Amino acid sequence: MSGRMKGKVVVVTGGASGIGLASAEACAAEGAVVVITDVNAALGDAESKRMVAAGLAVEFRHHDVTSEADWRRVVDDVVQRHGHLDVVVNNAGIAVIAPVEQETLEGWRRTQAVNMEGVFLGTREAIRAMKARGGSIVNISSIEGLVGDPLIPAYNASKGGVRLFTKSAALECAQRGYGIRVNSVHPGYVGTPLVANAIGALPAEQAAVLQQDLLGRIPLGRLAEPREVAQCVLFLASDESSYVTGAELVVDGGYTAR
Ligand code: NAP
Repeated sequence: MSGRMKGKVVVVTGGASGIGLASAEACAAEGAVVVITDVNAALGDAESKRMVAAGLAVEFRHHDVTSEADWRRVVDDVVQRHGHLDVVVNNAGIAVIAPVEQETLEGWRRTQAVNMEGVFLGTREAIRAMKARGGSIVNISSIEGLVGDPLIPAYNASKGGVRLFTKSAALECAQRGYGIRVNSVHPGYVGTPLVANAIGALPAEQAAVLQQDLLGRIPLGRLAEPREVAQCVLFLASDESSYVTGAELVVDGGYTAR
């Protein structure tokens, strides 16, 4: 630990698991006060207690990113308790396998609500809290926001939306002189419950073929570990990326390089 995030207050949504959890841990290990938020209160509480026991400054708040009222409550509470907010990592997301012909309007809207509207609300509330002293907003998109996949059209649409929304917000913050940078991260396949659950919902034979096919399409030949994505989030969250805004950081083992 070298204190790269010392003095910063960070909110990570979907921080109870996977990439969010690893990002929270990476920021806290570098000296930040980190508030992890999630709909999974039992896991969020347990993980924050584990990190506190390891000497890190981590708190948990129950928070549904689709709720405007939850966002206001969480951000106001963080600013009141800690005096300021410096980084928001809009990470919470869901992935449901449903090709266009099988997708329901309800399912489509749910994916957009969590993955895209959640990022909109988080970005808007972060700007409200940060515009007086600057900060960094990191939106977790995906390689699925860069290239299509026939199995997950709603997810593709949501992550593509996050990619361009991020650039729009970055330009607005720059134009207004807020000192807030806004960037997107585009992980490839990462070993987290999100991927395991999506693939696990398929019939066993189809799941095995998909998994094998997937590995064959990743030039580095393996899934990413959450901490490998977290290091990129940490870079964008820290002052080391002070001239980076409106950018998309791809972390995909070479998947989209072809
Ligand atoms: P994960 O392990 O499933 O963690 C996501 C967390 O977000 C879970 O704790 C989940 O709770 C929570 N969550 C779901 N809906 C929420 C809501 N409405 N409000 C607040 N929290 C909510 O997933 P992950 O793989 O780390 O994914 C994190 C982000 O990275 C997502 O945006 C995902 O799309 C993106 N991403 C993942 C991959 C990958 O390969 N894993 C690749 C590219 C991008 P529940 O478990 O209770 O639903």
